[in-house]
Amino acid sequence: MPEQDLLYQSSPASLFAVQARETPLTCTWTQDDEDSYWAAACCDHLFVFNDGGPVENGFRYCPYCGLELKEAKG
Ligand SMILES: [Zn+2]
Repeated sequence: MPEQDLLYQSSPASLFAVQARETPLTCTWTQDDEDSYWAAACCDHLFVFNDGGPVENGFRYCPYCGLELKEAKG
């Protein structure tokens, strides 16, 4: 495939950029409903916070996969 050949010739930096696009460096947590559980994108775990979301509660990284945590309203 021509695209594959291009990949091999590109610099390490751009090669990393391609890999980063394919493998997300963040773990997206989606809230099911307002004041309801959060679902981690990396696994089937559900997490309920008494108040606020994961970032408000100091979850900078996903406890399950270790990637940087990113909130998304579902
Ligand atoms: Zn995760």
